[in-house]
Amino acid sequence: MRVYNFSAGPAMLPEEVLKRAADEMLEYGESGQSVMEMSHRSKEYGEIINSVEAKLRELMAIPDNYKVLFLQGGASSQFAMVPMNLMNKNNKADYVITGQWANKAYQEASRYGKCTAVASSKNKVFSYIPEIDEAKLDPEADYFHICYNNTIYGTRFTSLPDTKGVPIVADMSSCILSEPVDVSKFGLIYAGAQKNMGPAGLTVVIIREDLIGNAMDITPTMFNYQIHADNGSMYNTPPTYGIYILGLVLDWVKEKGGLEAMKEINEKKAGLLYDCLDNSKLFKATVSGKDRSIMNIPFVTGSDELDAKFVKEAKAAGLINIKGHRTVGGMRASIYNAMPYEGVEKLVEFIRKFEAENV
Ligand SMILES: *Cc1c(COP(=O)(O)O)cnc(C)c1O
Repeated sequence: MRVYNFSAGPAMLPEEVLKRAADEMLEYGESGQSVMEMSHRSKEYGEIINSVEAKLRELMAIPDNYKVLFLQGGASSQFAMVPMNLMNKNNKADYVITGQWANKAYQEASRYGKCTAVASSKNKVFSYIPEIDEAKLDPEADYFHICYNNTIYGTRFTSLPDTKGVPIVADMSSCILSEPVDVSKFGLIYAGAQKNMGPAGLTVVIIREDLIGNAMDITPTMFNYQIHADNGSMYNTPPTYGIYILGLVLDWVKEKGGLEAMKEINEKKAGLLYDCLDNSKLFKATVSGKDRSIMNIPFVTGSDELDAKFVKEAKAAGLINIKGHRTVGGMRASIYNAMPYEGVEKLVEFIRKFEAENV
């Protein structure tokens, strides 16, 4: 029996996608082989990777002056790759510290140039998105970096500051494909696939062309965006199977009505859970107001014992991986695109039942 998996990542994939992958496991089309066994230089695989890029471009309405790169190394490699490639004019960048991932990005980039933390929400355990004083932004920064959705703390940006032409770089690992975004507002978007796009091992980078080609001399070949852009993500072997699964996920998103439809259903799912938590006498969401993520929803009872009991009983009821991140405690429900509405309904029912039994 399949469970409802609330893991922050690797996370659930749509059942339709898994079934199609299973159907095509032994033989993809008429190729006589599994996608996993194909040469990445073969005609069949060339068609797969090209179609995946085309589908992503269509769904996200990616403008023509952006490259799409299929890389490895996870979002964490981008923490170094971004500064090595972009911090090339004035050797400085601005960062907003909204959680552990944003801070890791900032720490790593600080090894390659002067990074400034222009705003932070550390004082309240990252439970909100800090005001960004545009006057404090450095007009000479090579880029401005944010983590668009904070997977661990459950906050998200709902607006962008006016950076006066400084390219905005966004880590969208845990929200890409969850709603439409205007790609043209960003210089670079990156995301590890294992939250909302496919299996772990694939990292997608969407980069404006003029930001490519000025990497620092010390940049390893494999960390140079130009190498990957010039070679159509085929400088070396790309994560072939992960890219194929991303293609199936993109087909699924399109069938569901695209990113507008994703946004609507994601808001409905998140609304159901937040409503339940806001009306509870036992549980409380750790984030309030407009900064609430629609992908990752942390909540607590206030008692470590009850939290542990909840996690244990939820698991027994088929609602797994709901334990919060070790730095926040409590629970966290990650409800990415692939989590069905019924999964959130089941969770809400379970929360009400647990509350009735424990207050
Ligand atoms: C999961 C996550 C990461 C880390 O991704 P890896 O692929 O494991 O390196 C970075 N940023 C955000 C926002 C994440 O959710």
